[in-house]
Amino acid sequence: MRPIQKSRKLADVCYDIRGPVLEKAKQMEEEGHKIIKLNIGNLAVFGFDAPDEIVHDMIINMGNAAGYTDSKGMFAPRKAIMHYTQEKKINGVTIDDIYIGNGASELIVMGMNALLNSGDEVLVPAPDYPLWTAAVSLSGGKPVHYVCDEQTGWLPDIEDIKKKINANTRAIVVINPNNPTGALYPVEVLKQIVEVARQHQLIVFADEIYDKTLYDGAEHTSIASLADDVLFITLNGLSKNYRSCGYRAGWMVVSGEKKHARDYIEGLNMLASMRLCANAPGQFAIQTALGGYQSINDLVGPGGRLLKQRDLAHKLLTEIPGVTCVKPKSALYMFPKLDPKIYPIEDDQKFAYELLAEEKVLIVQGTGFNWFTPDHFRVVFLPNSDDLTEAIGRIARFLDSYRRR
Ligand code: PLP
Repeated sequence: MRPIQKSRKLADVCYDIRGPVLEKAKQMEEEGHKIIKLNIGNLAVFGFDAPDEIVHDMIINMGNAAGYTDSKGMFAPRKAIMHYTQEKKINGVTIDDIYIGNGASELIVMGMNALLNSGDEVLVPAPDYPLWTAAVSLSGGKPVHYVCDEQTGWLPDIEDIKKKINANTRAIVVINPNNPTGALYPVEVLKQIVEVARQHQLIVFADEIYDKTLYDGAEHTSIASLADDVLFITLNGLSKNYRSCGYRAGWMVVSGEKKHARDYIEGLNMLASMRLCANAPGQFAIQTALGGYQSINDLVGPGGRLLKQRDLAHKLLTEIPGVTCVKPKSALYMFPKLDPKIYPIEDDQKFAYELLAEEKVLIVQGTGFNWFTPDHFRVVFLPNSDDLTEAIGRIARFLDSYRRR
């Protein structure tokens, strides 16, 4: 029989967070091994429960959630999102500019699919949350990675962005707060990105899914609040700030220079209609989440579990010889560097694989986030303090044996 092959459009698509190392971990679990998972930002499985009121609201409304909704989403959650954009000082957003999706993920792919033709380029950060790179490739575009600079706390390198713009560049992706680095961008940096977008007529895709997961009293600015003459597509959702990844409730807001984007918006509307609608139970959770008690503040504020775990993980990792790490200001991740003189890693996927096989700790290698060199990895600081201490102890032991090889 003729082999059944995946489509050619998937040839350049890569999503390593759920790649071969995870497959190995699953196999080890099936064989009875217990693995400490530092690989994925899935809060609920680490005992960070979704707010009760969201869960109750969904249960109460389950009987009303059996039908399709409007393809952009139900009225009340979109109104609540509209109100949220006002809180974030994003001008001129109407209910029509809001799309609810099965997580931000679905809308990221939709946003790119509606925009790109073959040869179109999109500036994506390196390191990035790799769905962005994958979505550009899947949509027939070319991801072009701009550097976020570790020396400046992983801020976007504006000169590098400028250098990489050409006549084919259509858009720039800004992930702020950032996965995988935990960086939070100052307003000055955001303004510079807006200026570049303005000059080159780029669309700004702003992924702000961690905008309430902020430490040390930090504040988040939505880049879309900084201009009315640039088109912004802002993504957010319940997955992280409300510990509700499984409810698949995300949204996308179109704002700014909408006048010249009618055709693109028509494309978005068509794709939204083609998938009929986002799951209705998840939509019911949105209004209650946005308007309710913001319990994320108890987790990230003084004495909060996320704050404590961030501090612990950072301290333990940076005590390991040859490991440095920018301390995250936001989100759930850190992206430590391994000194290449001490750890001469050539293939960091192999490195992650060996760490898993030898120490039963699952991380994701830096190149999985489209980082250029095999000298970083990402750690999720969601396991409790005991598990984090155990896992980082095992990483230290593995690194000690690695450098003696
Ligand atoms: N954007 C970023 C930066 C993420 O880290 C994630 C998930 O880890 C997503 C988007 C996906 O969010 P959702 O669960 O809403 O699809």
